[in-house]
Amino acid sequence: MKAITVFCGSSFGSLKIYEDQAYLLGQKLAQRNIKLIYGGANVGLMGAVANGAVKNRGTVIGVLPNFLKEKEIAHEHLNELIIVETMHERKTKMNELSDGVITMPGGFGTLEEFFEMLTWAQLGLHKKPLAILNIDGFYDDLLHLVQNMVDNGFLKEVNQQMIIVSDNIDELLNRMVLYKSPFEEKWVTKKP
Ligand code: AMP
Repeated sequence: MKAITVFCGSSFGSLKIYEDQAYLLGQKLAQRNIKLIYGGANVGLMGAVANGAVKNRGTVIGVLPNFLKEKEIAHEHLNELIIVETMHERKTKMNELSDGVITMPGGFGTLEEFFEMLTWAQLGLHKKPLAILNIDGFYDDLLHLVQNMVDNGFLKEVNQQMIIVSDNIDELLNRMVLYKSPFEEKWVTKKP
């Protein structure tokens, strides 16, 4: 993996561990020579993950919609800040630039971004690993809901299994490297 998109809150959240882990994730991406692609802002966990990478000489690319430049305050020390017009363009650009996604605690925006990438994956539009850094059980209830979707016949288990979950950054990154998309496997087994 050469580049990873991180989706996370534009707020810090109520526990210090969220910010600490965001910074640490940025640092570990830099140490592994993996480019950080993110929303380009200097607020909340978004700013923390960027700072972790920037301070450890990582490469960071922000993708920020023009109209959010003031509200989310663009980070001033990125290697590149790509300004786009719409939220849709933002997600498309981030997808183009990265080989996988890590989602950290966040709000509606974070979930929207992650679920859009999941829906693209289940349609086979990309084969990238999609991971949740489940800090302090933040996403436990969401993962129960996803199990509920499977139990009630709205989601295939194979698509549920696309989500890589861990509360440990190194484990998450190692599992992302090993990830095989269900589309890839189907294609492979079809070969004689
Ligand atoms: P939040 O998790 O609500 O704090 O938002 C985190 C990031 O998601 C922020 O940069 C938001 O601008 C971004 N965001 C919110 N809605 C969307 C959307 N529809 N498409 C792309 N990014 C979004």
